[in-house]
Amino acid sequence: MEDIQGKTFDVVIVGSGPAGLTAAIYAARADLNPIVFEGPEPGGQLTQTTEVDNYPGYPEGVMGPKMMEDFRQQATRFGADCRYGYVTNIEFDERPYKLTVDEETDIYAKAIIIATGASAKWLNIPSEKRLRGKGVSACATCDGAFFREQHVVIVGGGDTAMEEALFLTKFASKVSVIHRREELRASKAMQNRAFNNDKIEFVWNSELEEVLGDQVVDGVKIKNNESGEVSTLDDVTGVFIAIGHKPNTDLFKDVLTMDDVGYIQTKGQSTETDLPGIFASGDAMDPIYRQAVTAAGTGCRAALDAERFLADELDSEVAIAQKHWK
Ligand code: NAP
Repeated sequence: MEDIQGKTFDVVIVGSGPAGLTAAIYAARADLNPIVFEGPEPGGQLTQTTEVDNYPGYPEGVMGPKMMEDFRQQATRFGADCRYGYVTNIEFDERPYKLTVDEETDIYAKAIIIATGASAKWLNIPSEKRLRGKGVSACATCDGAFFREQHVVIVGGGDTAMEEALFLTKFASKVSVIHRREELRASKAMQNRAFNNDKIEFVWNSELEEVLGDQVVDGVKIKNNESGEVSTLDDVTGVFIAIGHKPNTDLFKDVLTMDDVGYIQTKGQSTETDLPGIFASGDAMDPIYRQAVTAAGTGCRAALDAERFLADELDSEVAIAQKHWK
């Protein structure tokens, strides 16, 4: 990336999911000439999903990768420079901040928008990977509606698993929750709601050993981790993994305030972080909603916050200069 080596940008956006690309649209339209480094998964988590039916503006639904391509085109239309690149280091001691991209290109940023997203945790068994997007999903909100009147399983025992299990009962004929212990981690309120739902059954002390199917999911093998017994559910067509998410915020660890899981904490209603000119958006700072549309909303807020920050800074530089000339 010789073309940008040593260059200073008003706004550098790290990440290219709905938050990053919405920030890019707003920052570009504000003449801030943003550059977006797309990271290891250009387009973010939505590029791993199939049809998106809950993003406003697409009445017929849209494929996740297509939607992210639309976001990208909209950002580039206004002049955002969206490019492959992985921000591997940031020096936080002085502004403009120095960022290293792909371990070789150094650039400077007056403002940084963090939009690095989060990644769903996976079990990391081979069949789960092979059938991802073909019946295996980590997002019930995104994919649940494809399983009308079918039997699905969900792995996990936390609030997300319960919330997703309850959501899935709107469509599925039966939801089996596979949990590795015999006690849920979820809050009591969520547990009660799940226990009181006739469509949900619990498979305790059990682990998903294998997802069956050639092109699409057509069953699961479950192992009881107390007895060692392996059983098959051969009418299952959907597998939802809900064992938690990990925000991609390692780059900011020990620098910005985060919660225990690693979600960046922002100030009040804003996207401001602990450091001047660094704003956080999307799943990197949102442990609760984690939707494309909410991420896009925070991306917009981060760009507006960055714009105001840079304008205020310019105003004070002008005021200092005017004082000096007097
Ligand atoms: P979580 O609380 O960390 O729960 C993860 C669940 O997955 C646990 O039950 C855990 O089992 C299980 N698990 C983890 N790794 C596993 C593996 N390799 N194999 C099998 N099972 C595994 O994550 P979460 O449910 O995503 O919730 C994250 C945070 O968001 C929590 O603070 C939660 O309260 C909050 N949240 C709140 C709401 C709400 O209030 N509406 C909704 C969603 C999330 P163990 O229990 O055995 O460890």
